[in-house]
Parts: sequence; structure tokens; C-alpha cells
Amino acid sequence: MELLDIVVRARSAITSRGCGAVSIGIRDGSIVCIEDFDAALDTLSEILVPDHLTLLPGLVDTHVHLQDPGNTLWENFKSGTRAAARGGITTLIDMPLDSIPVTVSLETLAAKHMTAEGSLMVDVGFWAGVTPWNLNQLNQLDQEGVFGFKCFLANTGLPEFPSVSVDILKQALTILKEFDALLLVHAEDEEQLNKVPSVSGHNYSEYLSVRPASIESRAVSNVLENVELTGGRAHIVHISTSEAAALIQSAKESGLKITSETCPHYLILKDSEVDDGATLYKICPPIRDEKNRNALWEYLENGTIDMVVSDHSPTSIDEKAVVEGDFQAAFGGVASLQISFPLAWTQAKKQSVSLEQLTRWMSQAPAALARLDSKGSLEVGKDADFFLFDPEATFEVKASNLEHQQKFSLYEGRTLSGVVEATWLRGVKVDYQSPRGQILKKSKK
Ligand SMILES: [Zn+2]
Repeated sequence: MELLDIVVRARSAITSRGCGAVSIGIRDGSIVCIEDFDAALDTLSEILVPDHLTLLPGLVDTHVHLQDPGNTLWENFKSGTRAAARGGITTLIDMPLDSIPVTVSLETLAAKHMTAEGSLMVDVGFWAGVTPWNLNQLNQLDQEGVFGFKCFLANTGLPEFPSVSVDILKQALTILKEFDALLLVHAEDEEQLNKVPSVSGHNYSEYLSVRPASIESRAVSNVLENVELTGGRAHIVHISTSEAAALIQSAKESGLKITSETCPHYLILKDSEVDDGATLYKICPPIRDEKNRNALWEYLENGTIDMVVSDHSPTSIDEKAVVEGDFQAAFGGVASLQISFPLAWTQAKKQSVSLEQLTRWMSQAPAALARLDSKGSLEVGKDADFFLFDPEATFEVKASNLEHQQKFSLYEGRTLSGVVEATWLRGVKVDYQSPRGQILKKSKK
């Protein structure tokens, strides 16, 4: 075999060969062979992974709001991709809203590309938005390499990114089907939401009563119905209720092209820990009870929910209305990118979920969603994206130590399991100085 650039030898690794000891041969940033731990390999350099660390595939996070350009004090390409690398995430797909402009046209996608260029520590691709106004631009956006499209069935609070009606949802699915593109849907039903009086509220239970499970179920039902009618492909983002998961389970059983995700916050937190006025917990859809949380783990394990992604959605402390403690006024979203894997791992251990399983939900499954063929696992032919993880070590979350632009965290002071020691992107160790991340575009068939 031709000389290798690097060989990584690990006693503990999760690769296409399963769990165990391997040697991985890397050339030109790609994995060219996976052999036994002590295989004789001709190489320029070698990395021997210490025994207490596990070699894992770089994580893929398909739900990240980097908010650049425009809201760069909340997060930006530099800070966000640094945080990603520190968290073992080597590929992320940026959401089309919360930046200025929002990504809904060729021009606004170009603005994203221009800003991202030269700022990335990890590889970044883009979703584009579907609004009632841009149905005639979806094909062009697809041609420009976006990985798919995102729409909202409930008010986003952003006049420049309005939600879509069920009729527009159907039209979008029909259009996207023509070029086999994916539609991501934020599934909360606007009509139902509007029926509930939105009182300003200090009580978490009151906030929950404004956003009951039925709001999500109704929206998910509408999506499933229209996937069936159109034959399109849809993905439900951040499933928060067992009710909605049950609907997805039966849709999958009947063969609909539907996938879904949930997020670390829904898998760890429970309503009983949310004090009244604790608006850092404001997320849409909201954190629900413990029984529901445990059911989400079961739906992951039985394959109804396909993956775990962060929905990293930062904002300023002012926007979280912490002083007022008003759940209605607070921005809905939580920042967790850098710690999303330890957050999920901390709870996974309690649920007796293996590291291998969790890793698959956070690398292979999201890579498959975005059809990122060269990402998501340690396998011959894929990019040499990986990180070293100490599954037994613990650390205390201190927002001031995180790379996130905003130095506060819902998880401040929590002790989490699992420490990311170092991260490699396409065969090169991330040094947090050289922006080697690339802008990814969906490959043309
Ligand atoms: Zn989101």
C-alpha cells in the first residue's frame, strides 16, 4: 500500500467495524484503511490514542443557528464553529433564520457563504428557508447546494421569516419532490396556539398550558397527511412529546418518508426542575414532564426518533427576560452546541444507552439526513473527521469557559460526564487558530 500520512491507533474506537481496537490509515484527509490495532502500516506519522480515551467519528449537527451575519453578538461563524470543534462536532448545518438576512434566496445564501468563508473551524453547510413568498426560488437554492429546506407551522416572531399555512406546506412538498429535496418542519400548530390566550406569565405551568402537547400533535398530523398526499420527504425537528412520536411511529410503519429528531434538552430536563420565572428554560416547544422525557428515549431506541441534534439557538441574556421572569416575553431557545454530546451522554448513561448508540444518533443519522456521504462515521472512503473522548471523566459547566459568544448557560454549574480531549478535521488536528473548515454544498447527482 502507498505511504499513509497518518495512522491513528486506538484500543477503544467506534468505527464501521463496530466497537474495539483499530488502526485507521489516513491519506489526503480521507480514511483509506481500517486495520487491526497492531497492523504494520507504512506511514509518515502516527497517533497512539491513550487507553482511557475512545476514538469517535466527528459528530454531525444538522440543527444549529449560527446567526451570522447580522446577530453576531449572539453567535457567529467563528465562535460557533470553535464551540463545535471543542464539542467533537466536525460538521454542522446552519439554520436559515436568526441571521440578518434570513436564508431565503440566492442573494441571502451568497451573503452566508461570503461571511462564512475563512471563518470556519469545522465544515458548515446550509439549510434554506421556505416562506409563503419564495416557493419560486426553491429550485435555484437547491441548485446552489443547500442541503434542504426549513419551514415553520407556527409564528417565528420574525416578520422576514413568516410561518407557512398547511396549504403552502403542501405546495412546498410538491415542489421539493420534483428534485427530491427534504423539507424540515417546525411542528407547532399556529391556529391552535392562537386559540390559547397568551397571558404574560411567571409560572412555568401556565406557560406549559399555553403550549400543550396537542399543539405539536396537530402540526405533526398535518405534515404526515401532506407527506402522504404529495409523496414528498419531510423531517420533523425537535420532537418534544411522546404523543407526536407515536404519530410518527405509525406513519413510519405505513411507509411514509418521514424522519424526526430530538435534542439534548428534551432528553435531560423535566418540568419539575423549572422554577417559576426561570426563563433560561424557555424553549419552543417546551420542556415537559419526566414520563414524557423517558418516553423520548424509548422512541429513540425503537427508531421512531432518528437522531439527536443540538438546536443550538443562542441569544443575549436580555432577550431571555431573566429579570422580568416572564415566559411569554422571553426568547425561546437554548445554547448548548459545545456541550451537546456530554449533555446527552450524561443522561444516556442513566438510561443505559451505550456510547456506540448515542454516537450513531449524533453522527451517522444526521449525516444520512443531509446526505453528507463523506461524513458521519469512521469508514474507508469518508473524511478523517474524529475526536478523542473520555467517557468516564466529568466536568462542571462554566459558561465563561465555553467558546459560545454569549457567556451564560442554562446548564451553568451542572456536572456532566464525558470530556472531549481533541478534534481532527479531515486528518488535521483542530488548533483553534487556522480556519480550515469548508463550506459544504449538497453534491449534484
Ligand atoms: Zn431551531
